[in-house]
Amino acid sequence: MTILAARCHHRQTILGNSMIDYSFPPQPSSFVPIAGSRQVFPVRRIFCVGRNYAEHAREMGFDPNREAPFFFTKPADAVVQDGATIAYPPLTENFHYEAELVVAIGTEGRNLSVEASPLHIWGYAVGNDLTRRDLQIQAREKGRPWDWGKAFDNSAVIGPIHPVDEVGHPDSGSIRLTVNGAVKQDADLAELIWSVPEIVSILSHSVTIKPGDLIMTGTPAGVGPLVPRDVCTVSIEGLGDLITKIGPRE
Ligand code: MN
Repeated sequence: MTILAARCHHRQTILGNSMIDYSFPPQPSSFVPIAGSRQVFPVRRIFCVGRNYAEHAREMGFDPNREAPFFFTKPADAVVQDGATIAYPPLTENFHYEAELVVAIGTEGRNLSVEASPLHIWGYAVGNDLTRRDLQIQAREKGRPWDWGKAFDNSAVIGPIHPVDEVGHPDSGSIRLTVNGAVKQDADLAELIWSVPEIVSILSHSVTIKPGDLIMTGTPAGVGPLVPRDVCTVSIEGLGDLITKIGPRE
């Protein structure tokens, strides 16, 4: 005998010619504000580049020769907006900040040349790649994925996105990070080992980049810990400040 469960029609969405009958409402897309606009930028995926400043590669114990860049990802719903207070995350005793330039993709593309890549960029933002360093290093040592060190809840702090129309394509300028006012990271975007157009080109040979994709481009030297009650500020010349407050442990 079959017992038929009552079917709830929470939400129906038209996709092409077919009606999708979701069993419960799908989560709305994560988004980031757009500077100077009432519109917001819907986030699709978050790609991150590892070791893209020579001094940071050295401080993590690696030779900063120009090996091909490598990528890891964070879930789109890890996005945290400017000014938010986030809880100190679980499972870590060494929770780190990483100041980063963020690239926001606006146009689909694949197998892009370095010259064509900037045409696919919608804008730029300030970012903070929050990291459970102890879990990342354990994973690295055991040859396991980095996810538990990098892709946890509230791990991608992204500031308002500045359209290319207004800020161009920043390839130099100060990138700084302070904790409670003390300078911890202080570098220049010109020190990126792999430039933004090179990163977008290389990524587009691995996956099709699409509107809403964000790329965190790597952090300079000086990474270090955050503890409850810290206030962490990332600043990039021309892109403003990005403030995150650390709350108590969850
Ligand atoms: Mn990073």
